[in-house]
Amino acid sequence: MLENKIGMIFGVANKRSIAWACASACAGSGAKLAFTYQGERLQENVEKLAGDLEDSLVVPCDVTDQAAVDAAFAAVAEKYGRLDFVIHSIAFAPREALEGEFVTTTRDAFRTALEISAFSLTQIALAASPLMKDGGSIVTMSYYGAEKVVSNYNVMGVAKAALESSTRYLAADLGKQNIRVNAISAGPINTLSARGVKNMGTLLGYVAEKSPLKRNVSAAEVGNTALFLVSDLSSGITGETIYVDCGYNIMGI
Ligand code: NDP
Repeated sequence: MLENKIGMIFGVANKRSIAWACASACAGSGAKLAFTYQGERLQENVEKLAGDLEDSLVVPCDVTDQAAVDAAFAAVAEKYGRLDFVIHSIAFAPREALEGEFVTTTRDAFRTALEISAFSLTQIALAASPLMKDGGSIVTMSYYGAEKVVSNYNVMGVAKAALESSTRYLAADLGKQNIRVNAISAGPINTLSARGVKNMGTLLGYVAEKSPLKRNVSAAEVGNTALFLVSDLSSGITGETIYVDCGYNIMGI
């Protein structure tokens, strides 16, 4: 499905990362992939995972450093000459902002969370679009806390609301270049980042009990939806937030 397509994956920390599930699904369908990692401590992990894939590229990229973002895209341009899709699967908020009351969020925590978790999508879309010469697809990861209050999710919910809105504005701007931009709103999954949210275990249990499918979603299921969104099968879809949450979001009382 993705033969001859080049993808760039932001946000692999380890094999549990949603980004890795997306990468596995896309590589399994024939895509060649470039991976970015943040900080030297993740380099070995990402190089090891990417090493099993044919013709992959691994480059450092902390999205708070514009020069690093530019260098990552320059490396992709040099190796592959073009880009067909991007998976944006990164987020961060200081741990103390992910517990207690939202009203106590500091200016610094707010700025950091919004910059890394939301602005980075716009930053990456701007850098990616010149390389998407035959059109392209950009996919980001959101969460239900963008639209409903989820205890302890706090400033990350506000960042995800900005991310989903950015998805729509970017889709409107980039549609004329045949670049589609969509978000997946994934149900909770036990990853490194998720463990930063206080009482994640309770949340997983609650969602499994209340969702129509009576279980939590797997990273592989999110990866398969990302594969659909970067493939031509979804050619008529842009600016959407698609729930991959075992149906949890549809439930009322
Ligand atoms: P991971 O911890 O595996 O991935 C998060 C990634 O973001 C890490 O690779 C992390 O690197 C990276 N990152 C953080 N700060 C920066 C930065 N400044 N520059 C570049 N990369 C950075 O967790 P997930 O796979 O769970 O998270 C992926 C995405 O999915 C996030 O947007 C998350 O909010 C979203 N999501 C997760 C859900 C879940 O329950 N797990 C549910 C719905 C959405 P580092 O480790 O170095 O910080």
